[in-house]
Amino acid sequence: MRNCDHDTPTSSQRSANRLATALAAVCSGRRLRLVILALAVLAPALLPKTAGAQNVNINWDTRRAFEYLQKVCEIGPRVSGTDGMLKQQTLIIDHFRQFGCEIRAQAFDVAHPQTGVPVRMTNLVISFDPSAKQRVVLGCHYDTRPFPDQDRVRPRGPFIGANDGASGVALFMEMAHHMKTIKPRYGVDFVLFDGEELVYDEFGKYFLGSEYFARWYRDNPPDYQYVCGVVADMVADKNLELYIERNSWKMAPKVTQSLWATARNMQVKEFVYSQKYEIRDDHLALNEIAGIPTADIIDFDYPYWHTTRDTARSCSATSLAKVGRVLLQWLTEVPIEPGDK
Ligand SMILES: [Zn+2]
Repeated sequence: MRNCDHDTPTSSQRSANRLATALAAVCSGRRLRLVILALAVLAPALLPKTAGAQNVNINWDTRRAFEYLQKVCEIGPRVSGTDGMLKQQTLIIDHFRQFGCEIRAQAFDVAHPQTGVPVRMTNLVISFDPSAKQRVVLGCHYDTRPFPDQDRVRPRGPFIGANDGASGVALFMEMAHHMKTIKPRYGVDFVLFDGEELVYDEFGKYFLGSEYFARWYRDNPPDYQYVCGVVADMVADKNLELYIERNSWKMAPKVTQSLWATARNMQVKEFVYSQKYEIRDDHLALNEIAGIPTADIIDFDYPYWHTTRDTARSCSATSLAKVGRVLLQWLTEVPIEPGDK
């Protein structure tokens, strides 16, 4: 039996959260979640071929996937604990219900970083083949940053988070259509992390949802095991360039390599087999706290990052399709054994 709790915020919590959001508008601060430590491109070891890998037939619906991204964006900002986030949760749960997968909500409260008022956080865990004891976790965050603080003109304008938020959600929404036909090697959990960036200033605490999830997995070992994981973040950039992220390479080299090998076999050149950025993202908690070797697929060369222009118009249906097809193919292979990194 897996731990599973699902609570709905009370209206007082909701109005408290609304108040907190309003209060946030008067204070400000900046900090990059993603720390760029190095720009040099490393010449990696030769990428091994995936032995015997056969490409599965994937009828990715490019338009439908992008419509999911647009639908999520139409909600508006989806900051943790706000009505926008609640609306998004409803949309997501209604969507995944049609696939007969198991949907669990992992709820917890955190003190709002500015007001101290409790904010209800909810990670959503969507399980395919839930009885499988060996599983792969695919994660993305689904909250949006309160403000577009990298926007030079409107740092307190609306932040829609089309690439930084909705792209991962849309990716999983479309992938769900294909999970039965592709026959993944392991059971698969999509995990939508809340509170990745409920952050207003340089002292903000990131990764609340992924850290909670990772601690829960470590402290309450379930009767199944995550063999490995992948986090997807900002995967719909029009000019998609997915370099190998350095922390992923260090902590989950085999997982990382296998993803880029699958992309190469599929001739998806947007997966660039070079290292570029070292990024702090939700994969750190999975690696460091939960001990799940996890790679991050992220395009950090996105000109609209944390600006008001991170909207659906800055995103590409084709980019989303490329990442989706690689991930689906990879799920059929996952050349990772328990204990591998
Ligand atoms: Zn962000």
